[in-house]
Amino acid sequence: MRIILLGPPGSGKGSLAKALCKKLPFVHVSTGDLFRQHIKDGTPLGMSIRHYMDAGELVPDELTVQLVTDVLQDEKVRDNFMLDGFPRNIQQAEALEAVLEPIGMKLDCVLHVIVPDEMIVNRVSGRRLCKGCGYIYNMESHPPMKEGICNICGQEVYQRPDDNPEVIEDRLKTYHGITEPLVDFYQKRTRVIDLDNSGDLEDVVNSALALLSEAKE
Ligand code: AMP
Repeated sequence: MRIILLGPPGSGKGSLAKALCKKLPFVHVSTGDLFRQHIKDGTPLGMSIRHYMDAGELVPDELTVQLVTDVLQDEKVRDNFMLDGFPRNIQQAEALEAVLEPIGMKLDCVLHVIVPDEMIVNRVSGRRLCKGCGYIYNMESHPPMKEGICNICGQEVYQRPDDNPEVIEDRLKTYHGITEPLVDFYQKRTRVIDLDNSGDLEDVVNSALALLSEAKE
């Protein structure tokens, strides 16, 4: 299946995608994770995008579309992917169509992740990420066992520079103004499934699995 996870920043798309991809044969393609890896590795792309990411601004379309186009060259990825954080505007969605259509590939559905903005601001201020494996913690609901150290790989757990309250307000504005119109865009093209992600992750994963298996039929 080819799926897009669409939802506001901080809505838990990353944790949800990672949990779903453990249970289903999808490749999780997170543009945010890929960009963070470039920054960590100090690549030319990483150096040119760092200031956009730290400020919570969108990276220019040509760089983002190129990144995703490259990833989708791999046949294993383009047969079964879960795109997380892409597309983020209509131009990126059209660019994705332009990659998939000529090779006869279509999206199967869009999972539209819904969480109220107030909850997002709270969640994001408690969010921490592992520098090594990218595992996502929350200082209130799911902190690492040893402060500042990842339970899984032992590397440092840090707060993303774009996860502070002022930046998240701007990122939410960008989401509502530029990304949310994609719900309409995709409603005209494929199946859009609304998913309430304000509850417990395990319950949400189970609902998502049930909805995806219905969508497959
Ligand atoms: P995320 O991890 O999805 O919250 O993305 C973190 C940051 O990466 C965003 O605030 C942008 O700076 C950049 N980014 C990720 N995906 C995209 C995209 N599709 N278009 C432009 N910028 C992106």
